[in-house]
Amino acid sequence: MTSREKFLSWGLGVGVLSLALAFVREPMQMAMHQAQPTEPTLVLIVLDTVRADHLSACGYERPTSPTLEALVQDGAAMHCQTYAPGSWTFPSHASLFSGLEVPEHGAHFVGDQALLRALAIQPLDGEIPLLAEDLQAQGYQTRGVSGNPVLAEASGLGRGFEDWRVAPGFGPWNGDGLVEQVTDSLRMADLDRPLFLFVNIADAHDPWYPAEEVDWVPSYPGTLAYFEVDDAGQVLPDGPWQRYVQGRMPEPEAQELRQEVTDRYDRALAQSDATLAAVLQTLRDHNWDGAGYRVVITSDHGEFLGEHGILRHGRYLYEENNRVPLLVWDSAGSPTLPSGPLSMLAARELILGQAPAERPVRAVAFPDPLWTEQSGGALGTELSVAVWEGQSKEHWIAGQSMQVDLAQDPLELAPTSSEPSEQVTERVQAAKTSAARQTGEMDPALQDALRAAGYLE
Ligand SMILES: [Zn+2]
Repeated sequence: MTSREKFLSWGLGVGVLSLALAFVREPMQMAMHQAQPTEPTLVLIVLDTVRADHLSACGYERPTSPTLEALVQDGAAMHCQTYAPGSWTFPSHASLFSGLEVPEHGAHFVGDQALLRALAIQPLDGEIPLLAEDLQAQGYQTRGVSGNPVLAEASGLGRGFEDWRVAPGFGPWNGDGLVEQVTDSLRMADLDRPLFLFVNIADAHDPWYPAEEVDWVPSYPGTLAYFEVDDAGQVLPDGPWQRYVQGRMPEPEAQELRQEVTDRYDRALAQSDATLAAVLQTLRDHNWDGAGYRVVITSDHGEFLGEHGILRHGRYLYEENNRVPLLVWDSAGSPTLPSGPLSMLAARELILGQAPAERPVRAVAFPDPLWTEQSGGALGTELSVAVWEGQSKEHWIAGQSMQVDLAQDPLELAPTSSEPSEQVTERVQAAKTSAARQTGEMDPALQDALRAAGYLE
């Protein structure tokens, strides 16, 4: 079977025809695609906010990821114990693009009190070489479309992309709106040069807009209101989010909330998976699979659905937040991925056609002054470090080191306290050094972008 036939058979077999038909076909443009680059098309996709253990492609009972499952059936390699190096969108993408761990690239929260009401982040250092720049130097045209507004140009993450598009906000813009942007970018692509396409699909990120109903999860009206803020940007003091994370919600109500959050999140995962199918279909429609393709799909972080007393994501390194999928699908034959924990940094090597480097698997999360304030001090105050070796995890939170055997205790419910290892001690020091380096000043253009996206007042 040729790669073209494989791509077509995927398109037909995966059950996304209804989605594919939603696109405006462009037969004339397809007929014009005679000149073909000889290098494979490289596609890097981040499914934002997707935790591995809620994907059917990783064994979850609900059908949340039929597209990923179909890719695996078509020969893609799937790894379900990959760990994001950061705890939220910005540091993890900075790691993915730079190949550096978070304390080394320094793109994360800053603790400056003056920025307490802002999303206090440090743009990526302009001197750090990025993946898109490397590929551009190799003759690739570089195109990026982000459904997550955190990846605004001023974040420093669009560097190296000839065409970089960022969503103005979550929700309705995504899905078809994102695919329209991908389609538009591909329409402008230079047919003589090989293509590197990056896409962030943010459909799994809250507030989880209503989607078409499915029969495997109850439908809920509107968007989830647990994180409502008042006019001053304060989370409602007696709203569900604050009461839950402060442990003030009675258990029957808490159980109901966890169920709704889980149902909405699972439905959003399926939405994210459908958008993935549509993006791949768009590439096929524009004949970008003609010279072969290498597709790498991963996530930047997961989501807490109430575990450990936490809702949302971004400030802790529990399994729910950091265990993500990693998939490689290569028309020249997908590589075999090593078993056991893998760092998400491997995605960068895989897109370059290299084997994942031997490296420690570890992550760092920085304290977040905004969350600390919003939660009334219940969340966001701690620096955290996690190191995975085999099924053993060392999790250091605010000076306390804990050991977990993930084979026995996959959700870290019964950790045992321990002395911090040398590696953890070194990471804590690296994180503190990185935090001290921060200037605490945010680029005004980034502030504007984040304000437009509703992150800032
Ligand atoms: Zn994210």
